[in-house]
Amino acid sequence: MWGILGAMECEIELLHSKMEHKLTTTIAGIDYYQGMLEGKEIILARCGIGKVNAASCSVTMIQLFKATKIINVGVAGGSFEGAKVYDIILSDSAMYHDFTDGILQRNYPNTQIFQADTQLIALAKQSSTGLEKQGIHIAVGRIASGDIFVGDAKTKQDIINRINPMCIEMEGAAIAHICHIYQVPFLIIRSLSDTADNEADFNFDEFAKNAAQHSAKLLLTMLSQSIE
Ligand code: SAH
Repeated sequence: MWGILGAMECEIELLHSKMEHKLTTTIAGIDYYQGMLEGKEIILARCGIGKVNAASCSVTMIQLFKATKIINVGVAGGSFEGAKVYDIILSDSAMYHDFTDGILQRNYPNTQIFQADTQLIALAKQSSTGLEKQGIHIAVGRIASGDIFVGDAKTKQDIINRINPMCIEMEGAAIAHICHIYQVPFLIIRSLSDTADNEADFNFDEFAKNAAQHSAKLLLTMLSQSIE
């Protein structure tokens, strides 16, 4: 069972529209759509923005709906040299940028870097050729999450100095954290809506919808190519 979540409606709407045999269950105000997508059994939800919403939804997907892998699709602000709107970042790992360095390392669950599943990364890379032909650049790297919309150069630089991520968003590390403690493989797929700088607010409004569709399309190809 694939668990698929996005923070915002625009991040899941394409997937939702293509689902078959939908059954909707509402828990804590979140609609969970169970059904088939590209011939695979999935559970899909719009979890809401931020770490707690994302974590809550991830737990529900694992505990109640028995998701055996979790994919987070959506948009993010690019934070690497030369980042362009619509570039896609696949997580090799996820970290919080708003959690004091070392605490999670010294205490449960004794890691502050959550590693994504190598098989899911490989499947995503193998599924990227169509998007690459359209000129969309795909990269694998660290994703940083926190409960802040990063829309200024100073905050962005501070995060780069501390953890040097390829992109910054608000849910991925929380999902990764839940997957780590439940030992469920995960992957985060984020297409850039902005570059987390002083123009981020403006760019987000203009590009988020299209960027979200690129992430969703990559996932659709992954599902169609997967044997599980
Ligand atoms: N504009 C909306 C909020 C969007 S929050 C409002 O004001 O109501 C941004 C969402 O997109 C989050 O889910 C986050 O994961 C992602 N995101 C995209 N660009 C981001 C950035 N620069 N910083 C943080 N999150 C970003």
